[in-house]
Amino acid sequence: MAYSPDNFKRAMSQFASGVTVVTTRHGETPIGITASSFTSLSLEPPLVLVSLNKRLFTHNVIAESGYFAVNVLSARQLDLGMRFAGMKPEIKDRFDGLNVTTAATGAPLLPDSLAWVDCTVWAMYDGGDHTIFVGEVKDLAVSDFDIPLLYHNRLWRRSEALEVPTVPIEVSLVEVGLRDGIQREEKFIPTETKLEFVHGLVEAGLKEIQVTSFVNPRIVPQLADADALCASLPKFDDVTYSALVLNMKGLERAAAAGIRKVDMGVPASETLALKNANTSIEEGMQEMSAMVQKAREYGMQVRAGVQVAFGCAFEGRIETAKVVSLSRRFLAMGIDELSLADSAGLGNPQLIRKTVQEILPMAGSVPVVLHLHDTRGQGLANLLSALKSGVTAFDTSFGGLGGCPFIQTAKGNVATEDTAYMLHEMSIQTGVDIPKVAALSRRMEALLGKELPAKMHKLVTD
Ligand code: MG
Repeated sequence: MAYSPDNFKRAMSQFASGVTVVTTRHGETPIGITASSFTSLSLEPPLVLVSLNKRLFTHNVIAESGYFAVNVLSARQLDLGMRFAGMKPEIKDRFDGLNVTTAATGAPLLPDSLAWVDCTVWAMYDGGDHTIFVGEVKDLAVSDFDIPLLYHNRLWRRSEALEVPTVPIEVSLVEVGLRDGIQREEKFIPTETKLEFVHGLVEAGLKEIQVTSFVNPRIVPQLADADALCASLPKFDDVTYSALVLNMKGLERAAAAGIRKVDMGVPASETLALKNANTSIEEGMQEMSAMVQKAREYGMQVRAGVQVAFGCAFEGRIETAKVVSLSRRFLAMGIDELSLADSAGLGNPQLIRKTVQEILPMAGSVPVVLHLHDTRGQGLANLLSALKSGVTAFDTSFGGLGGCPFIQTAKGNVATEDTAYMLHEMSIQTGVDIPKVAALSRRMEALLGKELPAKMHKLVTD
């Protein structure tokens, strides 16, 4: 593709930031180095700049050869980025096995780059321990749009842990409507009706359904039928039923009822810990540790994590460091999944991103699930923020059902059908059949005699 102002603008607007590999030749030998500081400078003449440390061999060769190419890598080229960053010491020749091509200057162009610009050195400026190379663009190529490989916080490990560093192609939705959603509803929903909803949710493609909580029936009468409900759950090979347990007694009941996956947590707020369970956070963590061990003995899968991780109705802002520290302790217990709950719906997209970006690298291969409430209408914005930070599993409730018996201001979870709609529109798969979920939400509205906060169940009627 020859240079044209339009092509140049297209390349630079798509790949404004990202990981690039700067290449040139030392005699006949191709050389290259990963660099992040690359930007456009001028359209007329077409200039780009790249900044390289003076200690780098590539720096000295470009100063001598007078030409270089900048190759913009895609999210799928993490390995290549690491190779050219010198993070694959076992690879002696960085170009080994790569089908490089050349264009105007002879600088090596990496195969499958999202874009490359081929430049002669137009000017060199002293930038302290770096030199700023200004390149005049002689040729360029732009591929069809793809996701660029980005430095988030310069932790390569982070990208590696995520596999796909920007938006995923698939997201898991954990249906919590029958637990978190209805626990505050005064009108008791008969066990058989709950079972019909379970059937309906399975049919709508939900692969994990939190069916109940083993709590004191006097405090949460709606879930008093937990044992009977679990005993009658329909069996499917690819569907997991989980239950919330708050203490050892609840765990034992869940085990006796045949539950194979439990969910547990501790609030990051001393006030709430005291109100909920009459304990301190520390006592709660000790109980959790014993419960995780016990659940292991039962051969159960364990999901555990931090409640009110993004703000507490009583204490207000929760320190991120506290959430990180509790998460680290949960991970050290050997749990299968870590959950972070915005129980009070006080999170905002920036806080979610900050917290998640600290916790994901620490969690490594342990999935992190976000439990978001839409109390203040921030649910989907928060979900998108978490998604873009690398979270691929979320709790949702059909119809946006929800509330918490202990937190009066808590409102519903982000709605299953609304979340699925947003994700599907973004070409992200969930496996959820929106019309089927919508029908269940309308049925629940009729049953409870009130409108539910979701949107899509009102729009999708077939
Ligand atoms: Mg909740």
